[in-house]
Formats: sequence, C-alpha cells, structure tokens
Amino acid sequence: MTTLITGGSGMVGKALQQELPEGVFLSSKECDLRNYDQTLETFKKNKPTQVIHLAAKVGGIMANQNQLGDFYRENILINTNVLEASRQCKVSKVVSLLSTCIYPNDCTYPLTENQLHLGEPHPSNYAYAFAKRMLDVQSRAYRDQFGCNFITVVPNNLFGEHDNFHYQDSHVIPAMIRKIHEANATGNDVVMWGTGSPLREFTYSQDLAKILVFLLRTYDEPEPINIGNTEEISIRYLAEKLAEILNFEGRIIWDDLKPDGQYRKPSDNSKLLSLGWKPESYMNFDEALAKTCDWFLKTYPNVRGVK
Ligand code: NDP
Repeated sequence: MTTLITGGSGMVGKALQQELPEGVFLSSKECDLRNYDQTLETFKKNKPTQVIHLAAKVGGIMANQNQLGDFYRENILINTNVLEASRQCKVSKVVSLLSTCIYPNDCTYPLTENQLHLGEPHPSNYAYAFAKRMLDVQSRAYRDQFGCNFITVVPNNLFGEHDNFHYQDSHVIPAMIRKIHEANATGNDVVMWGTGSPLREFTYSQDLAKILVFLLRTYDEPEPINIGNTEEISIRYLAEKLAEILNFEGRIIWDDLKPDGQYRKPSDNSKLLSLGWKPESYMNFDEALAKTCDWFLKTYPNVRGVK
C-alpha cells in the first residue's frame, strides 16, 4: 500500500505525518497540481494505491473576497487534476476534503450532508465553495461512470500546529493567538471584534488526521460525511482561555460595533459516530488549544504568516 498525501506540507498534512509516517507527502514544490502533466507524472512515479487529497488554495475571508477568480480556478484545476490522475493510475481509494463553510448560506441547522448543494454559499467565499462542491460532483461522477471509490469528507473550523498566523489571512484561533501574544510583548490591551457571544465548532488538526486514517478503513459511500467536533465554543470563552494559556496581563476589549456574524453554525456528525468514532476520541478543546499555543510560543516568529 502506498498512500500519497497532496497538501502534505500544510497544517493538516503535518498532522497526518504523525499518523501515517510511511505516506508520501507532497508539497507544491514537488508538484504544482494545477498542471495536469506534472500531476500525472508525479502519480506515475509514486504509484499510490490510495490518496488523501488535502491540497487547496485556502484563505480567510479577506483573501477569499479579494481573489474570487484565483480561488475558483486554482481549486478547480487542483481537484480535477488529482481525481483524473488518480483514475488514470487506478488508485483504489481517494479521500478528498470539503469544508462546512461551503454549505448553503441559508440552510437548516444542524448542517447535514444532504443540504450541501441546496442553495447559494455565503457571498464572501462562493468561488472557493463552488469549486469544493465540484470536488463532490466529480467524485460521484467518477464513481458512477468508472467505479472509482472516491469519497469526500467535511471538516468544520480547524486549528493546530503549523497553522497560518497571517493577520489578514488567518482563521479566528491563529489570529487571536498572535494578537494576544504580540500584545503581551508590548504591554497593550487587545481589541476583539463583536460581543464574543457567537458559538463555533473547532476541530484539532491531529484529531482530523486520526479521522482521515479511520475513514480510509471504514467509509466507502458516495455521500459526503461531516467529520468535525460538534462541541460548541463561544468566541468569548476562546479569547479568555487563550489569555489564560498565554499568561496575558492586559485587558480584552470587545468592540461590539463590529458584526458578530451568525450566532451558531452547528453541524451534525452522527454519520461519523455511527461508524464507531467516539465523541471522546476528539481531544479536549482546552488541551488541544494549549498544545497549539505551546508550539506557537516555541516556534514564533518563524511561523507561517509572520515570517
Ligand atoms: P494549508 O493552507 O495549511 O495547506 C495547503 C496545502 O496545499 C499545502 O501543502 C500547499 O503546499 C498545498 N497546495 C496549495 N496549492 C498547491 C498547488 N498548486 N499544488 C500543490 N500543492 C498545493 O491547508 P490546511 O492544511 O489547513 O487544509 C487542508 C484541507 O482542509 C484543504 O483542502 C482545506 O480546504 C480543508 N479545510 C481546511 C479548513 C481550515 O480551517 N484550515 C477547514 C475546512 C476544510 P505548499 O506548502 O507547498 O504551499
């Protein structure tokens, strides 16, 4: 068995390196997956029997909004090339990652897999969202026409070591870690957006890596499967917990003139639990946060998005 991991140098890829040390981990330096010839050549060279497809152009709200065309084109090319090369090279199974942020803007909570295509995604990231939805379409079309065992999985917000800590381009956890750490160094207070009351779900990258390996064995169905930790955490709790972990001595000021966004966005992971994954198999949130901060403190400023 040879498992090839695209996006092997990213946050989830680094977490998978610990779960599947024998895997072949690709970065964009070895192969630009937007280029089909390079992709096919890399697949022929490595002869994978299974593929975990993580590579994507990923970014926060600002990057998504400002580069809608790039997010669409690059993700469509990467996904189309990876699935076609997998088919040509007779890969027995492909696991591809979608995201809960591609669900329709106007859908019923909790998010269930059957709602994925039932409406427009949020306008801020519609290009990324539609490109990811086509990954589901292509996986199912290849299954129906060619008998390929290509599955798609849907994580929610991810965090962990090797995340992107860029101020404009990062997600909420890395952005808060950096903000609090840098305010600590200068003795300033920190200002957070909104009231802090919204609830969000977060999954630790190391848990996600374990789930991907678990699904290689247990899931072969055409329908996408939600795989995130569904414990809801308030943004205020998150900020206060990070302040505690990082020994922050300043004040956290909530700028309630800034929008809160939607109050909750819960997802339903009952399909994953029905396969035997246990809710307690997700690492305790505070512990996962502490591990992430520990890594950040040891690595800063040599972290992605800072240097
Ligand atoms: P990262 O941004 O950390 O990593 C992206 C990876 O994709 C890197 O290894 C990068 O390579 C590779 N890549 C990007 N463009 C190309 C290209 N043209 N050719 C080859 N490789 C390329 O992403 P994450 O680890 O956070 O995300 C992994 C997956 O999970 C993605 O599919 C993402 O959509 C999904 N996801 C992520 C969430 C999150 O909160 N982060 C939430 C839900 C889903 P290089 O290092 O060389 O640039």
